[in-house]
Amino acid sequence: MRCSYCQCEIIRNLTVKELLFPFSISSQRCYLCQEKFAQITSPACPTCAKPGWTSMCDECQQWQQRYPYYDFCHQALFSYDEAFKEWIYQYKFLGDFRLRKTFITEIQHYFSHKKDWIVCSVPLSEKRFFQRGFNQVEAFLQAAGIKTQKLLVKKLNNASQSEKSRQERLAAPQAFRATENMTKIKNQKVLLVDDVYTTGRTLFHAAEILQTYQPKVLHTFSLAR
Ligand SMILES: [Zn+2]
Ligand SMILES: [Zn+2]
Repeated sequence: MRCSYCQCEIIRNLTVKELLFPFSISSQRCYLCQEKFAQITSPACPTCAKPGWTSMCDECQQWQQRYPYYDFCHQALFSYDEAFKEWIYQYKFLGDFRLRKTFITEIQHYFSHKKDWIVCSVPLSEKRFFQRGFNQVEAFLQAAGIKTQKLLVKKLNNASQSEKSRQERLAAPQAFRATENMTKIKNQKVLLVDDVYTTGRTLFHAAEILQTYQPKVLHTFSLAR
């Protein structure tokens, strides 16, 4: 088996379950790649998982003023540190599709508690999709066996968020619109998924559209924060 990040050969004994059910062998990271990423543990902001906060962080307080009727609740697995930035650079910007499997174990574990939720990923613009060849969020969810619903479409083809300053990102206009699938979410639990939570602008824009279709709950999730 190869490491799902650095591709080095991993040598280990198979478990009984894996011997009996070879298809259950999931992708793994080698020891070094396992140690590289920092999982978010407490203390972290209770609403957005920003590490280092014991109560609602400054950013969440600002969002609450802008969206007083939206009960924001975000969870994230890893800290958006140098190691994660390096990974996302290789996966998203260099388009290394193999890396969709890097966090498969952690993703499956998280989603095992989300069985009755409708999962929706943040869409890419058509242009970006054709440049990269895949939607990086959709790809890591699919690799982990998570089914998604296409609820949103990206309507604007604006410049990449990563090329903008924080202020420019926060001032960006609404970029999404609903698909016809959106009527399914009324009174359902919905989980909106992105790769990284940076300013929150993308998720709050997407959530703004989803909220108008009255889900019972709307939570958000990202690999890193
Ligand atoms: Zn490795
Ligand atoms: Zn927060």
